[in-house]
Amino acid sequence: MTHSAPPALPEGLHIDTLAVRAAVPRSQYGENSEALYLTTGYVQPSAQASAARFAGQEEGYTYGRSGNPTVSSLELRLAALEGTQACMATSSGMSSIMLMLFSLLKAGDHVVFSQSMFGSTIKLIGSEFARFGVESTVVPQTDLAAWKAAVRPSTKLLFAETPTNPLTDVCDIAALAEIAHSAGALLAVDNCFATPALQRPMVFGADIIMHSGTKYLDGQGRVMAGALCASEELVKGKFLPVMKNTGMVLSPFNAWVVLKGLETLGIRMEAQSARALALAQWLEQHPQVARVYYPGLPSHPQHALAMAQQSGKGGALLSFDVKASSAEEGRARAFHVLDSLQVLSLCTNLGDTKGLLTHPASTSHGKLSEAQRQAAGMGQGMVRFAVGLEHFDDVKADLLRGLDTLKTL
Ligand SMILES: *Cc1c(COP(=O)(O)O)cnc(C)c1O
Repeated sequence: MTHSAPPALPEGLHIDTLAVRAAVPRSQYGENSEALYLTTGYVQPSAQASAARFAGQEEGYTYGRSGNPTVSSLELRLAALEGTQACMATSSGMSSIMLMLFSLLKAGDHVVFSQSMFGSTIKLIGSEFARFGVESTVVPQTDLAAWKAAVRPSTKLLFAETPTNPLTDVCDIAALAEIAHSAGALLAVDNCFATPALQRPMVFGADIIMHSGTKYLDGQGRVMAGALCASEELVKGKFLPVMKNTGMVLSPFNAWVVLKGLETLGIRMEAQSARALALAQWLEQHPQVARVYYPGLPSHPQHALAMAQQSGKGGALLSFDVKASSAEEGRARAFHVLDSLQVLSLCTNLGDTKGLLTHPASTSHGKLSEAQRQAAGMGQGMVRFAVGLEHFDDVKADLLRGLDTLKTL
């Protein structure tokens, strides 16, 4: 639930300040670091107050499934960063999507979403919700005409992720918001990769901002979390009632970890983006690299749009293709680069201070057919790199262990 009492802070503070200050009021003990409230129940001041809280006539915590002060602090802080009226935290990124779909859709309703979205998102909408009569159309990420053409009278939601994983395709949030709103639908944006430190989709007209807090918001690969940022009307009127009856609540401990993670989000995203840009520029020059995918590079197809939407930064995620003359050779060469690492991690997660590399074609996108992967432009020679905070020289040396020995393969 969202906490009703406003934090005792003056109006008009900058985002950097809110990132470390927005929270529920301190307890009577005056703790400087926000408290971790591990409790499932709350002692009620009176039977009368208890009745009023259960009837929704009075604010106040009643039970862990409908609210917790530590979770409220995270919700207040993330809403402040995204510039939305309210926020609802959930147990994971996927459960936040689940909550959104459950709260907004019924059988016969229609969703338009991008083919380049997170794999589980595509499965959840296209397969799981399809079983309950929710219809959907999948469109190419950057083809605005296709988004527009897919809209029907029953369309309730457009859902986009920008930039995407692993190709870093960028879509035009303002243009999608216009398509959604002129059809009477809502636009939801998965802001996992850019984070509010670089991109605030609300500014461009998005109605719901969805997060996997597991990634850059925690930022250190420790806990799973998710969130939906939106208007008070949506959060209190649509999401909260469903949350109370479904229970994909965020644990207070995980909320506390992500709350503390948000304090360094801005400087982490800035530092990790700067490292990613330097690495992307360097990789683009390497003789064994065929192509680099990174929104911060002028060679990126949506470079100008990305710079306008993402505060002039490319983010911390890049991918590259190693040179190869066939899919088999590409796979062997990508594996060689990954197996030669001594410092960076071979790990399917992302959004960590540790640099993490993966082979999308055999992991996150391994269930697609080779034809589907080819159509999506995702080859066997592709390596995805979620850039961390290691020193540029050490990262370069670690990648060169594999890249420079490709010649002798
Ligand atoms: C990881 C991820 C999700 C799912 O989040 P979980 O916290 O793993 O459930 C959704 N969208 C994107 C873009 C992601 O990277």
